[in-house]
Amino acid sequence: MSVTSQAHFKRVAIIGIGLIGSSIASALREYEIADEIVCGDSNPSHVQQALELGLVDAAYDDNQEAVEAADLVVLCTPVGAIGRVAGEIVSHLATGCILTDVGSVKKSVIEEILPLLSPAVHFIPGHPIAGTEESGPAAGFAELFQGRWCILTPLPDVNAEALLRLRSLWESLGAKVEIMTPDQHDRALATTSHLPQMVSYTTMNTARDMSDAFGMELVRYSAGGFRDVTRIAASDPVMWRDIFIHNREAALEVVEKFAENLGELKKAISDGDGDKLKELFSRASEARRKANSEK
Ligand code: NAP
Repeated sequence: MSVTSQAHFKRVAIIGIGLIGSSIASALREYEIADEIVCGDSNPSHVQQALELGLVDAAYDDNQEAVEAADLVVLCTPVGAIGRVAGEIVSHLATGCILTDVGSVKKSVIEEILPLLSPAVHFIPGHPIAGTEESGPAAGFAELFQGRWCILTPLPDVNAEALLRLRSLWESLGAKVEIMTPDQHDRALATTSHLPQMVSYTTMNTARDMSDAFGMELVRYSAGGFRDVTRIAASDPVMWRDIFIHNREAALEVVEKFAENLGELKKAISDGDGDKLKELFSRASEARRKANSEK
């Protein structure tokens, strides 16, 4: 893979060396994008693991130490901790440093970070649309971002050169970069990411409730469909708690639409209305096939 000259950093500090942080660290190493990679994490066993796995050159349980002299700092903690971490590190950031994050919600993260910053730091919020249901430093892999979108939501007064460097970094990691407003990001992701997550959690909980009601373990008799829908129910509950709390408005808009659609389906089943059921399923099936062909 060719790496553009803009996508090179002297010292990259990753705060939160979990799935996303360790994937970024691995990709930086693999594609030789940074002279030095360090991390900070509040979990001592993750600090230890990051060193043992060779993800970083140095690892700290103190975020302030980790960001010293870094020309790129990437905040990869759960969304609920990003504002707090920014408050800890802000006075330790080097002049001209690019500060970015990978949080799955953008408006609330920006509202928390913006008042803390000095003009000497270039803050550019981001979100790679890539992940798995695993967490922690051992879960990451360099190819995670290959062919996936990374959305950047720069502020109106963004430094053009810093934006170009960050864009080029993500492209070097294999991602396709899209620029959006924070509001566009949060509303889009509520549909494409939060909705499947809540459907997955609710399907799993419903299966548990029905197993209890039947007095037998029904999940044992599941096939591919159940596994596809519930795979992401194994995801980290803390991460998803933070996302729904921080993107409440957009998530509620989608829940309401979903409940309306579910109500329509329930009525068609209750009425034994085969035409309506066929119409609803055909609309979904056509939309899915169209999305497949546009990939
Ligand atoms: P993860 O695997 O749980 O990693 C988060 C890491 O941050 C953990 O090591 C965690 O330690 C640590 N941490 C928590 N609070 C901290 C603090 N105050 N200071 C330093 N480290 C701290 O989570 P992840 O899946 O990589 O997600 C990280 C971020 O990426 C989240 O903001 C999420 O919204 C975003 N994201 C996730 C995905 C996905 O599919 N997973 C995709 C795109 C973006 P503990 O485990 O001890 O808490």
